[in-house]
Amino acid sequence: MISDDLRERALGAYLGLAVGDALGATVEFRSPREIQEEFGVHRSMIGGGWLHLEAGQVTDDTQMCLALGGGMIAGKGWNLQRIADALAAWLRGHPPDVGNTCRRGIRRYLNDGSLEGPPSDWGAGNGACVRNLPVVLATLDDEEAFVHHTLAQAHFTHHHPLADAGTLALGYMLRGLLRGAGWSAARQVAATLVAEHPEFCFDPYPGRSSAYIVETLQTALHYFFNTDNFKDCLVGVVNQGDDADTTGALAGMLAGALYGVQSIPHAWISRLDPGVKRMIHAQVDALLAWNPSPQPTQDVGTLCLQSREG
Ligand code: MN
Ligand code: MN
Repeated sequence: MISDDLRERALGAYLGLAVGDALGATVEFRSPREIQEEFGVHRSMIGGGWLHLEAGQVTDDTQMCLALGGGMIAGKGWNLQRIADALAAWLRGHPPDVGNTCRRGIRRYLNDGSLEGPPSDWGAGNGACVRNLPVVLATLDDEEAFVHHTLAQAHFTHHHPLADAGTLALGYMLRGLLRGAGWSAARQVAATLVAEHPEFCFDPYPGRSSAYIVETLQTALHYFFNTDNFKDCLVGVVNQGDDADTTGALAGMLAGALYGVQSIPHAWISRLDPGVKRMIHAQVDALLAWNPSPQPTQDVGTLCLQSREG
């Protein structure tokens, strides 16, 4: 049975991701100084930004998560092709933005049907990492499946040792936080990541927040480990600017998993796109109950972005 506590943390992680994406999108690609000049401190869910979003609208980061999660729960067991088709359907729906490496990977699949791209320097972006939450939620009781499915879905678009390391480390942090292991267990995972790949060192914080997986994670981890509540963590992260929707999404996952869904400020969650909120609630329940062995599952096809866009 899924405990209320786990469900609250899982909802916190998934809604936290979407809130961080929507909050950060307002200042994506801006510098900290530009943000300060325009907003003082950016802390309101107001939309806008280079994508001219509505308040509470999310971007590719949340949408790819929903596509991947929808692909996982739309049929029986693990099926990377079903996930690839869900991501391809999302791309065909002309989303407001798509990362270049994600677009390249999905186009490759549409051209030749291959489910894994070749190792490439392009692969060190953050796109595969930010969409991995559904895999984490679905494999909490199965570490082997967690590692396999994480790398398989990541290599669909991103194939680089640093992206692999960062995506797995974030996943291990989330697995611990969702099961109540707390702050220090997550900090230990981060320390191991830095020991194995010193590029990721975030103390002292280098102050860059680009889409390079190293800088994205450094920013999310710096603010996550140096704040003690959801709001301060997210405000700190998004005011670093640059890839602010994605750093916001990663920090939102971590903070939501640690502090729980009740910790997300009402002023933010109440403005989040209601359709996205509904899909997240439905996916959290389905993913926590996901069974990796092929068993008949309930018909959850309506949870896919694919059918929503039809
Ligand atoms: Mn985005
Ligand atoms: Mn971004």
